[in-house]
Amino acid sequence: MALGQVDVAVVGSGPNGLAAAVTMARAGLRVELHEAAAQIGGGLRSEALLDPLVRHDLCATVHPMAPMSRFFQEFDLAGRGVELLTPEVSYAHPLPEGPAALAHRSLRATCAELGADGPRWRALMEPLLTHSQGLVDLLLSDQRGLPADPAAALLLAARLPVLATPLARRQFAGERARALLAGVAAHVVGRLPSPTGAAVALLLGHLAHGTGWPLVRGGSDRIAESLAADLTAHGGRISTGRRISDLRELGGARAVLLDTGPAELLRMAGPLLPDRYRRALRAYRYGPGAAKVDFLVSGPIPWADPRVGLAGTVHLGGTQRELFRQETRVARGRPGGAPFVLVVDPAVTDPERAVGGLRPVWAYAHVPHGDPTDPVRLVTERIERYAPGFADTVVAHHSRSAAELEQYNPNYVGGDIAAGAMTPRQALLRPVARWNPYRTPLPGVYLCSAATPPGPGVHGMCGYLAARSALRHEFGLREAPSLAP
Ligand SMILES: Cc1cc2nc3c(=O)[nH]c(=O)nc-3n(C[C@H](O)[C@H](O)[C@H](O)COP(=O)(O)OP(=O)(O)OC[C@H]3O[C@@H](n4cnc5c(N)ncnc54)[C@H](O)[C@@H]3O)c2cc1C
Repeated sequence: MALGQVDVAVVGSGPNGLAAAVTMARAGLRVELHEAAAQIGGGLRSEALLDPLVRHDLCATVHPMAPMSRFFQEFDLAGRGVELLTPEVSYAHPLPEGPAALAHRSLRATCAELGADGPRWRALMEPLLTHSQGLVDLLLSDQRGLPADPAAALLLAARLPVLATPLARRQFAGERARALLAGVAAHVVGRLPSPTGAAVALLLGHLAHGTGWPLVRGGSDRIAESLAADLTAHGGRISTGRRISDLRELGGARAVLLDTGPAELLRMAGPLLPDRYRRALRAYRYGPGAAKVDFLVSGPIPWADPRVGLAGTVHLGGTQRELFRQETRVARGRPGGAPFVLVVDPAVTDPERAVGGLRPVWAYAHVPHGDPTDPVRLVTERIERYAPGFADTVVAHHSRSAAELEQYNPNYVGGDIAAGAMTPRQALLRPVARWNPYRTPLPGVYLCSAATPPGPGVHGMCGYLAARSALRHEFGLREAPSLAP
């Protein structure tokens, strides 16, 4: 296929670019996908970074949204041999004093450990579990239509006023339940408490007791590989190692789908865009950064509370009060303090990730936007605080500061792994306030990255919804193509 002979060009091969490309190819269109990096996958890359046999997930490693995303349900990861492994303890939150708080898959087991807060935790989560698919469909939608399950929307609306405001500090009587929920809200990477933090806490928090927080057997890149295999099986072509710098490089494709953020769109098409839209893109705000460390270690993390070692994900943020204060400080661009750190020992869930006595440890810290500090010392100290002796198990490490994360992937501006601040406005109207957030004013050109609704995470829904819109408007195809294996 030479340039100009394709129906659809997709720029970027993250989960959303791949989801868009697969959807277009499944509709019978000729698709070419262009990726700047040498390896496809965007946030779904894995690599033997520090030892030839031990694989590290370079970005996303835990996939709470994948089992419930309509795109991945249709695509059927399991039917393609991609196995999601789900730990019995979704996440743990060690505390400065006393035993750690644990979110078990079992709601009952979780509540039993929360004392007087057990019934409150149950009252918060149980109704959401009854309406889990409705809630996920609502939050992983383009946020433009009426909810298919109005009860899910009501449950969300009833919970937000408390969790999104300083009232969150009084939601529970004890520190363990408070910290558990605050740690999940912190996944929003921004000021806390906040409406978007509350929505994320309810989405991910209830999934912890439902389909769980799985990892991919072997590594996250297995998801990208299976999407790419489906694309090529349906005639699509993939080229890597060239960053598109001008949309005109894409020849005469009838539709162009960009798995990129506004900054990259401006770079590729700035002068072609109408002034108003260009100004709106320039006003798009980026949030705090993430600074990533991959460790190669010689044994399981020696958590002071050994039950933490059962958890797929560990949140290191201290008490709710400490966590809210720290996240707000980072959102204001102030360095220092004791950063919130997420830690995953993938071999807890996927024992095959440990090879020859060595295993990977995945961690990142929330830091101010664009922070250039190498995070190794800071992250090691945070883990040591709750797992004395961890540093002695470290054989090697690899790190990327927030500033370096942008060099690795242009979508993570200033290290913002959410591809744009998750403020209430930008959660709904990303990247600009338009009825169709995917269409740009340029004929046939669409955005399909996490900078469009429903936003960050590995769910493929931004790409899928953008592709559905392009199929409708550019090719007159209203029916969704089958994505089944
Ligand atoms: C350190 C880290 C940890 C994370 N952990 C998790 C997690 O555990 N769970 C989770 O659900 N999410 C996680 N995320 C977030 C998740 O990875 C992203 O939300 C998701 O990958 C976004 O998908 P996307 O397709 O929109 O963009 P991306 O995955 O960022 O992919 C965009 C692709 O486009 C390419 N590209 C950009 N511009 C151009 C251009 N001009 N020409 C050609 N190619 C271009 C980039 O190279 C990249 O490959 C994490 C992210 C990071 C960085």
